Amino acid sequence: MNIQENHNLEIIVSNIYKRYRECIGQGKVADYIPTLSTVNPDQFAISVATVDGFQYSIGDYTTGFSIQSISKVFTLAMLSSLMGDDIWKSVGREPSGNSFNSLVQLEYEKGIPRNPFINAGAIVITDRLLNYSKNENNQVTGLSTRGRAKESILNFVKELAGSDDIEYDKITAQSEILTAERNFALAHLMKSFGNIENSVNDVINTYCHQCSITMNTQQLAAAFLFLANGGINPLTGKEVIGKRNTKRINALMMTCGLYNESGDFAYRVGLPGKSGVGGGIVAVIPGKLSIAVWSPELNSNGNSYRGIKALEDFTTDLGISVF
Ligand code: GLU
Repeated sequence: MNIQENHNLEIIVSNIYKRYRECIGQGKVADYIPTLSTVNPDQFAISVATVDGFQYSIGDYTTGFSIQSISKVFTLAMLSSLMGDDIWKSVGREPSGNSFNSLVQLEYEKGIPRNPFINAGAIVITDRLLNYSKNENNQVTGLSTRGRAKESILNFVKELAGSDDIEYDKITAQSEILTAERNFALAHLMKSFGNIENSVNDVINTYCHQCSITMNTQQLAAAFLFLANGGINPLTGKEVIGKRNTKRINALMMTCGLYNESGDFAYRVGLPGKSGVGGGIVAVIPGKLSIAVWSPELNSNGNSYRGIKALEDFTTDLGISVF
């Protein structure tokens, strides 16, 4: 994008920020994970990053928050590069039409989750990532299989974001583990169908940690740039995933990235995106940019109320979406 386009981007984003700055009390902060309920609801940040190196942020963009389900994109990208098409023997690629932590469909569909962005699907992805952490020499590192998996997930995210200042929030991870009955139930049900290969404790512990990763919008916008750039991280020039997998992950974000609101998000925003119950949403315009928005109050579908409004205005004001 040229200097004029970057300037327009800055104006559009700062106007959207001002428009919604006072828009609070419309949604509800997630409370089913105890530590999330203590987050100050009146926080709002927007960051954009273009594939050619321009960045602009406004609001609380240096404040870290729990990325929650946004982490499912990172683990899917990691596993895609390790496992290739075999992933799709264990996870589907269709919207579920059910809530993100639903158990009913899994029973009918014999333990094969509909897609990698509902909890069941993400839990399978994390399970298979654990397989790649098994054969290391644990004597040397002193880490368990799940310790190694957690380390490699965090390193992957840090490299994508070009930032070392990203960590697991151990308190949130513990808080989630202690209240993860549905996620344990999903994993046990899938294990009964042979679709979980590691111990349920290891899988859910690793999954809850990945959800607890704390990042700010600036780091998230940077970390998603590879999906706007044909799979290449523009910060390092390194291929993260191939073009084909980039197309696929973007397609999955478009069809399944916002829980039961994915259709409406495509209609209103017109971009591939992924949300988390921490109030973050990240979206990409392939070939151009990524945008991360954070505001903790959620709508009834579990997506950031202000985040969706901001993104809808962003593609409308910019006049660009994938459509
Ligand atoms: N850690 C959350 C859970 O498993 C993720 C939910 C989300 O962000 O959608 O319930």
